Amino acid sequence: MKVTIMAFGAHPDDVELRCAGTLIKLAEKGHKIAVVDLTRGECGSRGTPPKRMEESKIALNIMGLDFRENLKLSDTNIEINEKNKIKVINIIRKYKPEIIFLPYLDDRHPDHTYASKLIFEASFYSGLKNIKTDYETFRPVYNIYYMCHYTFEPTFIVDISDVFEKKINAINAYKSQFEINKEMELNDLLKSPFSLENVEAKDRFYGSLIGVRYGEPFLLKNPVKTSNPINLLFS
Ligand SMILES: [Zn+2]
Repeated sequence: MKVTIMAFGAHPDDVELRCAGTLIKLAEKGHKIAVVDLTRGECGSRGTPPKRMEESKIALNIMGLDFRENLKLSDTNIEINEKNKIKVINIIRKYKPEIIFLPYLDDRHPDHTYASKLIFEASFYSGLKNIKTDYETFRPVYNIYYMCHYTFEPTFIVDISDVFEKKINAINAYKSQFEINKEMELNDLLKSPFSLENVEAKDRFYGSLIGVRYGEPFLLKNPVKTSNPINLLFS
């Protein structure tokens, strides 16, 4: 069950919209990757929880990732309490990822903000041996924040130009989110995270900062350890 990377989302489809390109690239390099959705998105305006679960499995296959779990926390009410922390600690200890992807710590959608705090805490406490759960103690090495609505100055940007089309295919797996979009006015559509125009514009902008077509921005709070900065900078 060991994975290298675990990507968390507050809702099914968060991971696809924000960091699918990077995950697809890492999977193509042979890394084992699990996606963990905290909620079933049951309060979303479009689609039903079973439909979104089904779509999230299709998206996982398109991205070529290995596992997907849903912790079934309450959508629009992601509480940072002991019960939820233990659930997240258990899933981290079960898969033992060295790297965690999580939403940026401050976002317009409160679920993303609370999810970020909950995952950050669980990632740290997972390493404490006196917190007993169903699995052995384990602490990931890096927490990497991906960008939702609020922006940040990225620590690094991943060139996803060669897998951008696959990312769009994974987003398109969430058909229930697009059905109503057809009836939306342009102004409504531009507010939707499912506006493919918005996804493209954002990825294009961050790509332009590193001189490529499409890029995904990430933030690290802790310094990166390296004995070879040349490899780090020119990979
Ligand atoms: Zn979300």
